[in-house]
Amino acid sequence: MQSETEHKPVRTKPWKFGMLSTEEFGEAEKELVLGVLEKKRVFRFLGSDKEQSEAYRLERLYRGRTGAKHALAVNSGTSALVSALIGAGVGPGDEVIVPAYTYIATAAAVLIARAVPVIVEADDSLTMDPQSFEAAITPYTKAVIPVHMRGVPCRMDEIMEIAGRRGILVIEDVAQANGGSYKGRPLGSFGRAGCFSFQQYKLVTAGEGGLVVTNDDTLYARANIYHDSAFVYWDMNADNVQPPFAGENYRLSEINAALALAQSGRIDTIVSKLRRIKATITAAILDLPQIRLQAIPDPQGDVSYSLVFYLPTADEAMQFSHLLSREGIPNGTIGNNGFADRHIYKNWTYVMEKRGASERDTPWNCASYKGNVQYSPEMCPITLDWLGRAITIGLHQHMSEEDCDDVIRAIRKTAASL
Ligand SMILES: *Cc1c(COP(=O)(O)O)cnc(C)c1O
Repeated sequence: MQSETEHKPVRTKPWKFGMLSTEEFGEAEKELVLGVLEKKRVFRFLGSDKEQSEAYRLERLYRGRTGAKHALAVNSGTSALVSALIGAGVGPGDEVIVPAYTYIATAAAVLIARAVPVIVEADDSLTMDPQSFEAAITPYTKAVIPVHMRGVPCRMDEIMEIAGRRGILVIEDVAQANGGSYKGRPLGSFGRAGCFSFQQYKLVTAGEGGLVVTNDDTLYARANIYHDSAFVYWDMNADNVQPPFAGENYRLSEINAALALAQSGRIDTIVSKLRRIKATITAAILDLPQIRLQAIPDPQGDVSYSLVFYLPTADEAMQFSHLLSREGIPNGTIGNNGFADRHIYKNWTYVMEKRGASERDTPWNCASYKGNVQYSPEMCPITLDWLGRAITIGLHQHMSEEDCDDVIRAIRKTAASL
């Protein structure tokens, strides 16, 4: 290997890409947001013309995008998950299966619905391992939440087959995979419900926001009730026939809805650019024997903003990451990035410790729960192994051919130096 003094990095040009979402802010965003101010309607349940509401238009767009019969705009991805779970009738006594690698909000949503999260392994796709899912089913399992992590579609054929055969409800967490598909079908359209997020780290953003899609009339009606404590009492919602119960306030503001609407109009353009970029890089590093690419259950459906590959050991991954940084390509390891990453189950402290807001009648110790779920930081060694050996490079739709070429040359050079 070259010494520090004679080291010539592949790239010296700064790597300056903003976030996927906010970098696209332009005229469409300004026009729609300012339009809300001009209309003086910042609250969706105002006046009688439902269809003039931005939240309604956002819902209509996602009904079209996913083919779902219903869509419900809410104020976050977490509230989308909670509304879907409550809407589906998940509650005290139920277990809900979640993958060991997902944002903590997935597990939090289960707890907020007062059900018990059951954590299962992710495989080399970094999404839920279907066999671990099936092995974790108990008489108390009501639902499973496959999470399309980092834009990568889960193994939906296997998951849907198991869920169908065992009578388990599927709620898809699409927070990180807006615009993705699996075998030609949009993500979010497989489960009983699909849940999106418009938080700033996602592909498109409203600052805060979320959305539930479903074909299930009852789930939709109940999710509506839960997302607004007075939902059925607004005249324009009089057609809701489910009996009312107390809900939270998860309503989406018209300003956020307008921003989500403008941004969502950009999804297909952004994703097609990302797919070209990722395909170019992937094709040029496929032959390297030193690294193994992340398994992608359907490469055509990958949202493609995340490039992941594995080294044989965690130590080699740390070393590779360091060398790649020296070549001017920002990257990270996933399992050992120096902080308690809340996307990894062992860092979901309040889950690991079974702690609720109150000590009495938590989802785990309430009278309704007859199961006996156990957690420990070591419980999913396969997931920890994949994450520990993973290197990740965040891709951006504004990357040029030259930028892609730098990534390719830096990876090849680093691999050759091992
Ligand atoms: C971001 C995220 C959520 C939560 O979305 P918020 O809008 O931040 O509430 C849920 N699940 C996953 C996988 C996420 O990445």
